[in-house]
Amino acid sequence: MEEQNFLDNLVGVFGHPAAENPGVVIQEAAFKKMGLNRWRFLTIDVDPGKLEDALAGLKAMKMRGINCTLPHKIDVLQFLDEISPSAKLIGAVNMIVNDKGRLSGENTDGKGFMESLRNKGISPEGKKIVILGAGGAGRAIAVEMAMSGTEHITIVNIPQDEKMALSLVDLVNKETGAKAIYVPWDGKYKIPADTEILINATPIGLYPNVTDKPNIDYDTIGPDLFVQDVIPNPAFTPFLAEAEKRGAKWNTGMGMLINQAAINIKMWTGKDPDKEVMTEAFKKVIG
Ligand code: NDP
Repeated sequence: MEEQNFLDNLVGVFGHPAAENPGVVIQEAAFKKMGLNRWRFLTIDVDPGKLEDALAGLKAMKMRGINCTLPHKIDVLQFLDEISPSAKLIGAVNMIVNDKGRLSGENTDGKGFMESLRNKGISPEGKKIVILGAGGAGRAIAVEMAMSGTEHITIVNIPQDEKMALSLVDLVNKETGAKAIYVPWDGKYKIPADTEILINATPIGLYPNVTDKPNIDYDTIGPDLFVQDVIPNPAFTPFLAEAEKRGAKWNTGMGMLINQAAINIKMWTGKDPDKEVMTEAFKKVIG
């Protein structure tokens, strides 16, 4: 007779709003393929100001862990027992493991990004890169790239929010071996000729604004540039289409999403998921 164990292993995501978060589709497809039939991924809307209560609930229900998305990625730091070195530098946590009531935080956005880039045969070592945007994604990517040996990072950001960009530049220069500079984004940005990797880390192009593209001079993109987007939905953005037109190689934000989800699953379950199955499940959602 089969063992009778109906206890669920719970993980999920805390966000606000949370309804559009596709994590459940990707993660539960992986659990199914892995035969982890009693693992459940819950999409949970947690109001700002209620995060501490939600984490107490997570511990009370012996949940294995949780992802944090906007607006909780920074707030959550104060409630954790341990934070990984790169998450501490980034200043944001999107992934928590609960070990018998002890909460440890990691940032898997940047790690998922790095894996996606390497899967395309691109290494960060010694590269000169440009990052558009200095928010959560831009920060995670800049820190991981800098810690992986990138030589020079140009952060391009709209001047209204100079503080964010300047703090990121300062952090990279002080805490890593890379050199970073800030360039205010006030008009069509021209990509410097020696740039090797160009990254869009803004929400420009994300559904439903699917025709939007970053305000750059696309004629400064050449065939030697590698162009990377963080937008997973739609995967092929107008930004990437412009790069393709000019002969540049490119990579969508879907790989980053799938790889970070795969890292989360490994950290929670100790097992490697099937990324193909996760990608197919996500593609069905975005159509
Ligand atoms: P944030 O809001 O933290 O940061 C966004 C950045 O883009 C800020 O620097 C912001 O500047 C800038 N920005 C926003 N709109 C414009 C604009 N119209 N022109 C120029 N700059 C602009 O968001 P996140 O960094 O958390 O997320 C950014 C994108 O990354 C989202 O679309 C998200 O879906 C995607 N993402 C993808 C992941 C994946 O796995 N593929 C993982 C994480 C994020 P300002 O602050 O001044 O507004």
